[in-house]
Amino acid sequence: MKILVANIGSTSLKWRLFDFANGGERLLHKGGFERVTDYPKAIEDCMMELKNAKAIQDENELNAVGFKTVIAKNVTGCVRLDERVLQAMADYNGLAPAHNPPYITGIKLFAQRVPKVPLIALFETAFHQFAPEASLRYAVPESWNQIGIRRFGFHGASHKFIAERSAELLGRSDVAERAKQLYVHGHATKISGAPLRVISCHLGGSSSVTGILNGASIGTSMGMSPQSGLPQNNRVGDLDAEAIPYAVKTFGISIEEAQRQLTKESGLKGLSGISNDVREIADAAAKGDAKAKLAIDVYTASARHWIGGYFLELNGADAIVFTAGIGENRADIREAICANLENLGIKLDAEKNKSVRAIEAEISAPDSRVKIFVIPTNEELVVARETKRFLENRNN
Ligand code: ADP
Repeated sequence: MKILVANIGSTSLKWRLFDFANGGERLLHKGGFERVTDYPKAIEDCMMELKNAKAIQDENELNAVGFKTVIAKNVTGCVRLDERVLQAMADYNGLAPAHNPPYITGIKLFAQRVPKVPLIALFETAFHQFAPEASLRYAVPESWNQIGIRRFGFHGASHKFIAERSAELLGRSDVAERAKQLYVHGHATKISGAPLRVISCHLGGSSSVTGILNGASIGTSMGMSPQSGLPQNNRVGDLDAEAIPYAVKTFGISIEEAQRQLTKESGLKGLSGISNDVREIADAAAKGDAKAKLAIDVYTASARHWIGGYFLELNGADAIVFTAGIGENRADIREAICANLENLGIKLDAEKNKSVRAIEAEISAPDSRVKIFVIPTNEELVVARETKRFLENRNN
């Protein structure tokens, strides 16, 4: 079975082609284009590259194209992309303005180009859909809840990969298998063995922390939109609900301008006044820049706040996992997040931590009760696997 995973940006198209023949999981091809101005041509060129590389002979050989879509109104999980789902995505364009519109355009172009190939979406909200209601609700009037003002959570493909892989690393193939079947069975919490408790820290351009019990999310730091939780690269993260009306009145700016400043000029960029990239901020902090240091401190404190919340909620943890650009590459930030937690049984191996960059490794000290891992995430593989399961498990 050959599944193409297409990653669509407003001016980029990236893809990975997986082959699941003979029970394997093989990456057959990967590629992409930046600064795309003619999207139909980019899709055409993608097909041509796949053929030139002999990854496919004909596009109808593709069993499906999978998309890591972000959010849709009243739709989540792994679903076939039809008119209804596309409309539901359009209904929430405002919640994911950088992602939903280009995805909708790109998906429609794929539908025209490969009309016989099923197009399947795995929504980033999917992994959190079975979390307890109490962790998904805001304390707003019921009418607000009814129109969808509730926590959805994101980075679902990444946290799901961590749920599966961490269970394997902890020797719990039962939980890993259960986690893999999450969207088929609806939840993964009913297992026979001891509960498996993992805290997944996806720390990247955007960041979220998720509590995972027996392979399923019990709650996550991002909310109704990806504009909440930890400070993001240039987005604010958590903010008091009164702050926006106060800023609008005080500065005499529009809601749209306030939104722009909170989504483009805030987060690590706003705090540091330097950059939205942790590399540049950390360099400046090392040279004594106080704002840069503060930016990293606020980020670290927020990560610890969310990790602490799930540590309590899960009654401890078997593992804390770091993933994504910062989590995989920044030993200094991992060290700051894990500092002074010995009393909770969380102890980093300082030397091991320093040596680990973008590889899978355990970085906890031998006497740490909680294992600490770096696990490079593989979101495209999760989309491909779920697309495959979707095709196999349902009569679609
Ligand atoms: P995105 O969420 O946009 O996919 P990433 O997961 O790549 O982004 O995370 C981007 C962040 O990770 C940046 O702050 C960057 O400084 C950091 N980062 C990414 N790659 C590296 C690297 N190789 N070395 C150090 N930091 C990195």
